[in-house]
Amino acid sequence: MTEQNPFEMAQKQLDECAAILMLDKDVHELLRHPMRELHVSIPVRMDDGSTRVFQGFRVQYNNALGPTKGGIRFHPAETIDTVRALAAWMTWKCSLLGLPLGGGKGGVICNPKALSETELERLSRAYINQVWQFIGPDKDVPAPDVYTTPQVMAWMMDEYSKLAGRNTFGCITGKPVCIGGSCGREDATARGGMYTIREAAQELGLNLKNATVAIQGYGNAGCNAAFLCKELFGATVVAVSDSKGGAYDKNGLNLESVCGYKAATRSVVDSPHTEVITNEELLELEVDILIAAALENVITERNAGNIKAKLLAELANGPTTPEADKILYENGVHVIPDFLCNAGGVTVSYFEMVQNISMYCWGIEEVYERLDKKMTAAYRSVLDASRGYGINMRQAAYVVAVDRVVEAMRLRGWV
Ligand code: NAD
Repeated sequence: MTEQNPFEMAQKQLDECAAILMLDKDVHELLRHPMRELHVSIPVRMDDGSTRVFQGFRVQYNNALGPTKGGIRFHPAETIDTVRALAAWMTWKCSLLGLPLGGGKGGVICNPKALSETELERLSRAYINQVWQFIGPDKDVPAPDVYTTPQVMAWMMDEYSKLAGRNTFGCITGKPVCIGGSCGREDATARGGMYTIREAAQELGLNLKNATVAIQGYGNAGCNAAFLCKELFGATVVAVSDSKGGAYDKNGLNLESVCGYKAATRSVVDSPHTEVITNEELLELEVDILIAAALENVITERNAGNIKAKLLAELANGPTTPEADKILYENGVHVIPDFLCNAGGVTVSYFEMVQNISMYCWGIEEVYERLDKKMTAAYRSVLDASRGYGINMRQAAYVVAVDRVVEAMRLRGWV
């Protein structure tokens, strides 16, 4: 969670874009607020027989381009403003990728680590009980997010199907593959990011086979990115990190060994034949590509001037502050902004919806090929806007995304 109110931050980013696009005041005002939100109290029978009431939300930010789409978070520090901001960012992300979807998000204030498996199941089902008439395949389609898993999606889909009186696999994405999930969802975020890195490298004249890479964060996004950098490009990953610190080898890490060590000790720090470095040192390494795949606000005005990478790929949400953005742009660091770089996840979620609607299951190669096309087209549209308007890549991503939503609203006669 950021210190700054995330929804105010999302509104500020939109305001900047509205100025570039010279948006009408009323159009701008409509885009500054969610179209609809639902607040629910969720009673759940606990294992000891008592009942606890949890607070939950579902926000549908804008559905001009299609049904809203976005994850559900189970987090003790969840707030309605975080959910609103994430719903706004989903709107821009879906638009940028050319998906026929709007943006939404949901959340429940709870600590899933303190719940038993049966309590978690009852909470998941009870949330759907409260929101099911508000969501659905042609209205609003949730997905996993912080602390919600494919198993949670399976319970939610089952509950929705019972209430609707028919199997409705397309009401939710991120399901296990045997009940309507899509092949390729697991590493979709990292893989989508790789396609944008490939395009950017071509732009910068960077030979990926000889490129060195440092990755902050070694979870789902960062770990998959490390293996894919090697597998797809033959690049050399010299450093990775987690919340405890980093592991560095200037000749290239043995990723299998680092992975095994992390599985055994829960950290990459001190993994065999590596040097220990801090997260701060990792960000400032002399590498070709820096991948931010952990947290928000890690590249700030304090360290942006020390970034030596030619390319910064933001798999994490919000790793770079607006002040740092300016410094990176002036220093010629090419940034692939978060809602472009990490859009592979929602894109494969959209593929899951399409497969559910058509009752068909695509093979893995088909998923990769379609993902590549979507990510490449989105990257190209952002690069063109960046050059056309003379603005940085993040501003350009906003311009492309917001412009499409505005056009849809105009064509539908909303504004
Ligand atoms: P994750 O929980 O699997 O991994 C997070 C990693 O960050 C872990 O290795 C953790 O140790 C590390 N980390 C935590 N605190 C850190 C710190 N202070 N310094 C350095 N590393 C630290 O999460 P994830 O799914 O890989 O998500 C990472 C980022 O990517 C988040 O910003 C998330 O919003 C974004 N993202 C993920 C997906 C996805 O499909 N997984 C999709 C879109 C965006």
